[in-house]
Amino acid sequence: MSNTISADEVGSIERPVPKPRPHTRPTDSIANPEWIYVDGSMVARAAATIHVSSVAARYGTSVFEGMCVYGGESGQSFVFRAKEHLTRLRQSLRIMEIDCDYSDADFMDAILRSVRENQIRGDAHVRLSVFVIGEGLSECRGPISLVCVAHPRPATPIDQRGSHINVSTWRRVDNSIMPMRIKAGANYQNSRFGTMEARRNGYDEAIFLTTAGKVSEGGHSCFAMVRNGVLITPPVTASILESVTRSTLLELAADDVDLRVQEREVDRSELYIADEAFFCGSRKEICPVLSVDRFPVGDGRVGPITRRLWDAYQAVIRGRNKTRAGWLTPVWQDSKP
Ligand code: PMP
Repeated sequence: MSNTISADEVGSIERPVPKPRPHTRPTDSIANPEWIYVDGSMVARAAATIHVSSVAARYGTSVFEGMCVYGGESGQSFVFRAKEHLTRLRQSLRIMEIDCDYSDADFMDAILRSVRENQIRGDAHVRLSVFVIGEGLSECRGPISLVCVAHPRPATPIDQRGSHINVSTWRRVDNSIMPMRIKAGANYQNSRFGTMEARRNGYDEAIFLTTAGKVSEGGHSCFAMVRNGVLITPPVTASILESVTRSTLLELAADDVDLRVQEREVDRSELYIADEAFFCGSRKEICPVLSVDRFPVGDGRVGPITRRLWDAYQAVIRGRNKTRAGWLTPVWQDSKP
């Protein structure tokens, strides 16, 4: 009897096809507002449009910020780290060479009006975007349209935030090609490739490697892991967005949770032996990573250090940590923080 198997037999081996993951996750859950801020006015959702011939529509020439509003225990709501988000928006505009005459006060007015005029009293995700509405080729610098959309959304407990991820076969775009450190709409086509591949193969999310093969970030969030009690995250030179949440957590980890932190290059194989891991971002807050390429992270459940960071983050965003009150901008004038 022969020990070899024919090509026909190989072809007939049945392999289970992993089920595609649902395309929405608990942390994606957001509702549409009735009114949207466009260039100084609140307009009905259906009227908030840009032209098909704009370079924003044709080539994806836009920059944006995603930030969160949190309902505090006092009945007041707060925009979290608005100043840092506006600083990054200015950096995105500068690097993209988009002409924008709006001041930071105008940006803040757009954010607050989009929450207030939709009467959103609880949590919300707010997207402030600058679209190049000029017509022409991709080098068109303006005019622009300033748009702000506030989506109400429920809070999601840490135990419902876990995800199973894979290492994407798509690499993160290198800074010598396009700058991923800024928040430009077009950058998210790279995220799309990774996420589509992940979902097709039965994972929730993807993590990208840099073109040099080091760990970069997720499609819509930064990455951190815990090894031997140390919180480790790739550096800002690893083709990542310069994330507000990442720097918030690095500060909280060192000051409030008493952890050692390291910003350093991370190898792919470290993902398979990490004790804990999570994605972080304004919209995602902290989302524990439960497995990578089917290797369980730790014991496959939310780890203790991730929980401590989550608690520290909650104390800050809900206004309970008074030493960080400077990170919160009140939404309503009728009550005090
Ligand atoms: N990386 C990418 C690609 C993102 O889209 C986001 C979400 N803005 C993040 C990281 C996290 O950034 P931030 O904490 O500033 O929201």
